[in-house]
Parts: sequence; structure tokens; C-alpha cells
Amino acid sequence: MQVCATITAMRAWQAVSVAEGVKIGFVPTMGALHEGHISLVHQARAQIGPRGRVVVSIYVNPTQFGPQEDLQKYPRTLDADLKLLKAAGVDAVFTPSDAMMYPHGREDILAVEPGPLGTVLDGALRPGHFRGVCTVVLKLLNIVQPAQMFMGQKDYQQQLILRAMLRDLDVPVELVTCPTIREADGLALSSRNRYLDATQRGQAIALYAALDWAKGALATPGMTGTKLTEGMHKIIQERGLTVQYASGYHPQTLVAYTGPIDGPCVGLVAAVCGSTRLIDNMPLTANLTPGGEICTPAA
Ligand code: AMP
Repeated sequence: MQVCATITAMRAWQAVSVAEGVKIGFVPTMGALHEGHISLVHQARAQIGPRGRVVVSIYVNPTQFGPQEDLQKYPRTLDADLKLLKAAGVDAVFTPSDAMMYPHGREDILAVEPGPLGTVLDGALRPGHFRGVCTVVLKLLNIVQPAQMFMGQKDYQQQLILRAMLRDLDVPVELVTCPTIREADGLALSSRNRYLDATQRGQAIALYAALDWAKGALATPGMTGTKLTEGMHKIIQERGLTVQYASGYHPQTLVAYTGPIDGPCVGLVAAVCGSTRLIDNMPLTANLTPGGEICTPAA
């Protein structure tokens, strides 16, 4: 496994792969890796084919963190991450520094405008977050130049916005969205789960509990978006978390249902547990892919 600590080294490795006619599957991460990240590596390996190569980036991108957020304390576990990636059969790891990614500073640079999907939910709660995400992902794609990029359904709004970025900016990369990996009790794996103490870890199941309830509740006669929201909020609050949002949404427009849920629906939740912000989501109607695309049943 090649570790490329500079953009020059990554580009050189990439050029050799291109010269050999090899396709690249790319998994961008912020490190502190867990089984969710590794599932993306396995999916990349499976889809890019035996002659393909898998590249993982580890970079805690400062421009996607707000001033009050956890940039400084975000877990950094590079040695353990590299061991996990080697065991998972990754071909190359890209570990750039801030100075390499933002040599002209972070403030007065050209950035990607995330568009309308970037103004709601996490876009509204975390101003500038998706601008930072889109900008760094486009930079990483320009350096790694993969054929496919693999991301998690866990960050549902993120993958939706990045899919729009690839489409609207004609970036020749296919985005593959992979299902969320969970603990046995349903908690979605996240690098931020390591902030939770034992009590909070117990409470954190509230997000999955609300989504699981919502999925069943959709079959209740007379169910509306407003009733769904009320029920989800109640479940999360009863466990002692502070709800930021918890509702059923249209999977592509991210507009919340208020009246009858008469179309495709994804449940999206964000809640604060202690001082840790957690997010999760689940398709609530049967006809959705992990990326929120509506599949028409085979005739
Ligand atoms: P992060 O390191 O948090 O930026 O995540 C890197 C990638 O891993 C993103 O595409 C995430 O959506 C994905 N990811 C994070 N948690 C999970 C999970 N529990 N299951 C599947 N993918 C995940």
C-alpha cells in the first residue's frame, strides 16, 4: 500500500495507474476509520474490478467546520487507520496537509457554491459546511481523478449535494452511495461516536429508534408529515437528546412532508447528545436506493 503524503506523490501514482490503463475507485474520508468506512473500501474494490485500484484519502478538511465546531478535537488516528486500510487491501492512501490543500489560505479562495440543497437542514444549521465539502471533494477528485467515488448513505444530504455537483459541473466521476453500517442496536457507526460516554451511548439509540418508528408509522391510516414529525421528535426528546430536525422528506428535494405522505419519503434526523451532534437517516418508503433515487419496480 502506497502512502502519498503530498499532492505531487499522489499525482505521480495516479499518472502511473492511468498509463497502465487502470481505473481508480476513490473513498474520501476524514480518518478515525471504522467499519462504515471499510465497507466503502470493500464496495470500491468489488465495483472497480480486479484490475482496478482503490484510493482512500484521509483529510480533516478545516473549511467544512464552523468556528464553534469540533475541528480541533476531531479524532486523528492515522497509524490505526493505515493498518485498517492495509488489511482491507487498499492500493494507495492520500494524506495531504492543510498547507498543501490550501497553499493560498482558506479565506480568499474560489469555492464551490453548493446550490439550493445546500441551504436546508445541515446547510442551514452549519453555514458554509457544504461549501467546504464541495470544494474539498472537487479538489480531491481533480488530484485523484477516479472513475468512481464511494460515499455513505449515512451523510445523506452530503451525497445528494455532491451528486448534483458532479452533474452540474460535468465532473466525469460516478458517485456510488453505499448503505449505512450500524451497531447491533441500530446506532449508525460514526467517528464522532467515540465522544459519547456510556450514558450518552445508551441515549444515542434515539435517532435509530425514531427512524424505525417512522418506518412503521407510515402504514398507519391518516398518517401525515406533521404527525410523523411530532412522533419522531417525541421519541428523541424522551431519551434526553435535543432535536435539530426529524421528519419525513422528499428524497431529492429535501422538502418535508406536512400533509399526507403520498410520494417517496426519507426520514432524516439530527440531534445533539451531550455536546455531540449526531445524524442518521432511513428510506421510509420501499422504492428508494441508498442514494435516494426512486427505483421503478421491474414490469
Ligand atoms: P467521514 O470520515 O465522516 O467524512 O466519512 C467518510 C465517508 O464514510 C462518507 O462518505 C460517509 O458517509 C461514510 N460513512 C460514515 N459513516 C458510515 C457508516 N456508518 N456506514 C457507511 N458509510 C459511512
